[in-house]
Amino acid sequence: MEPTISLTQVSKHYSMPGGRNVVGLDEVSLSVDRGQFVSVQGPSGSGKTTLLLTIGGMQRPTSGQVTVAGRDLYALSHAEQTKFRADHLGFVFQMFHLVPYLNVIENICLGAIGQADVQEQAEGLLDRLGLTDRWQHKPSHLSVGECQRTALARALVARPDLILADEPTGNLDPENTAVVLKVLADFCQEGGSVLLVTHGQEAHGLADRRLQIEKGRLEELNVL
Ligand code: ADP
Ligand code: MG
Repeated sequence: MEPTISLTQVSKHYSMPGGRNVVGLDEVSLSVDRGQFVSVQGPSGSGKTTLLLTIGGMQRPTSGQVTVAGRDLYALSHAEQTKFRADHLGFVFQMFHLVPYLNVIENICLGAIGQADVQEQAEGLLDRLGLTDRWQHKPSHLSVGECQRTALARALVARPDLILADEPTGNLDPENTAVVLKVLADFCQEGGSVLLVTHGQEAHGLADRRLQIEKGRLEELNVL
C-alpha cells in the first residue's frame, strides 16, 4: 500500500528582498504509513509549520516531490485540492482558528459540511472530548483547553486519513495535553495517521516515531 505521506528531497527556500534566502526545509525525505503517529520536535523557526503547510498543499516546495495518499497536491486544480483536503486531511492549528460567532457544535460541523452523519459524529466527539456541557458556547466563552479540543473535533469529524497538527498542545495544561494526545493516538489505532509538530517533547511517549527538525533538516531519532 502507498504511504500516507511521501516526501522526497523536499526543500523550501523563502526569497527575501535584497536577494537573501531563508531556508524553511532542507532536503527533507519522509515516508509516513497508515496508522502511524509521528512526532516532530524542533525549536521555534526550525521549519515545523513550513513542513505541515508543504504537506497540506498550501505551500509549494522549491524542489522535491510531495505526495499525500499517492496524490501530488501541487498537480491538482484549486477545486480538486479543496476536495482532496476535505476528503483526506484534517488540520489542527496552533491558534485554533475557530469561527468566533459560531458555537462549539457549529464549529465542529464546519469540518464536514454536507456529510450526512455530521451531527451524529460531532455529538460523539463532544462526548469523547469532554465538551458535551459546552456545545452551545461560543469560543470567547471557552477555556483555552476547550478551544483546542473543539479544533481537534473539527479536524476529526470528517474522519480524515491524516491529521496535521501544529503545536496542538502548545497552550494546554498537562491534563488537557494528555486528553488531546490520547485522542490522536486512538485515531491512529483506528488506522489514521498523525504528523504532529511541537517545540516540546510531550508527544514523544505516545508516538510510534520520533523525529527532530533543526534549520529545516529532519532527522529520525529512533524507531520505537
Ligand atoms: P517553526 O514553525 O518551526 O517555528 P517556520 O516553519 O514557521 O518555523 O519557519 C521556518 C523558517 O522560515 C524561519 O526562519 C522563518 O522565519 C522562515 N519563514 C517562515 N515563513 C516564511 C515566509 N512566508 N517568508 C519568509 N520566511 C519565512
Ligand atoms: Mg510554527
